[in-house]
Amino acid sequence: MSTTSTPRDPYEVLRVQRDASEQEIKKAFRQMARELHPDVNAHDPDAEEKFKEAAEAYEILSDPDRRATYDRYGHDGLRSGGYAPNFDGFGSIGDLFDAFFGGGASGRAGPAAGADIAVAVEIDLIEAADGVTMDVSYEAVDRCEHCHGNGAEPGTPIETCERCGGNGQLQATTRTPFGQMVRTIACDACHGDGRVPTEPCRDCRGRGRVSGRRKLDVDVPAGISDGQRIRISGRGHAGEMGAPAGDLYVLVRVREDERFVREGDHLITAVDVPAPVAALGGTLEVAALEGSVSIDLPAGTQPGDALTLRDQGMPSLGRSRRGDLRVVVNVVIPRRLTEEQRDLLEQLKATLTPENLRSEESMFAKLRRALGSQAA
Ligand SMILES: [Zn+2]
Ligand SMILES: [Zn+2]
Repeated sequence: MSTTSTPRDPYEVLRVQRDASEQEIKKAFRQMARELHPDVNAHDPDAEEKFKEAAEAYEILSDPDRRATYDRYGHDGLRSGGYAPNFDGFGSIGDLFDAFFGGGASGRAGPAAGADIAVAVEIDLIEAADGVTMDVSYEAVDRCEHCHGNGAEPGTPIETCERCGGNGQLQATTRTPFGQMVRTIACDACHGDGRVPTEPCRDCRGRGRVSGRRKLDVDVPAGISDGQRIRISGRGHAGEMGAPAGDLYVLVRVREDERFVREGDHLITAVDVPAPVAALGGTLEVAALEGSVSIDLPAGTQPGDALTLRDQGMPSLGRSRRGDLRVVVNVVIPRRLTEEQRDLLEQLKATLTPENLRSEESMFAKLRRALGSQAA
């Protein structure tokens, strides 16, 4: 779906009233989905676009928060709130139906495509900041080299499949959320190939595929967050008899870095500052992504004050800007004083006036600070 054109009113798309109940919306969407289902409506070239539009409308109206936002502020409100429906990532309308109604709707006849594979990699925060190439090794099904994937022992004949008469397909009646549907499935005797070897290949026992270990260099982009996935198309299991391979999904785990807390692209770190230094001000070394950086601490810094170092945080994934580094000052009151230190503090205490303690903060801000909830 194009993101430049103005999306239509979701109520109009689903043909429901503005005060429609959840049930009515669900019913309207199912009704439309049923009309647009590829098994029913294989000849409408716009069916896929129409279904995507209906799915987007349903995504908005089926979620009470989104619906309320849309009602008040329209599509712009949803976009500025960070919601961006996008179904372009789905390979086919069948995948879309699977996503909404859970499997079974995309009946692809012929040899089955390879399954997807998921692997995980673990990287450091620095690697997440710089981007890194990871060596990934995983088990995957590959085409059998002994029979070149046709499943027959080399030099032996391949015959027409008796079960399907050679066309590789069978008719099957399945139950879907839209009722009974007749669809075409791959023949289970020949796996959709239409032909069977008289003598199965001894390496793969006629499957045409064997399992093995694969290695791949995976580029992890700078700015990636813990839990994000990288999709590498076509690197999953090999398909049956020349059908397309599945995809490889690399789940990226970013190890915790004890120096930082990450908040989106921003990094937060804490620095201990002795009370006299906080009072006098001075130069401090604080942890930064690459080693350390020195900051000027203003005189009279209070516990919990935060200093922001612009562009010293994480890079923004796919963009050229960076987040900030926020340094939260933890003022430490000296403990286990020596005799001399105690004398000095007694002298200091004797000279303090209300002016030394006066601040511009409201009582509320002071309470909040005392309770330790500094909203950075
Ligand atoms: Zn083989
Ligand atoms: Zn067959």
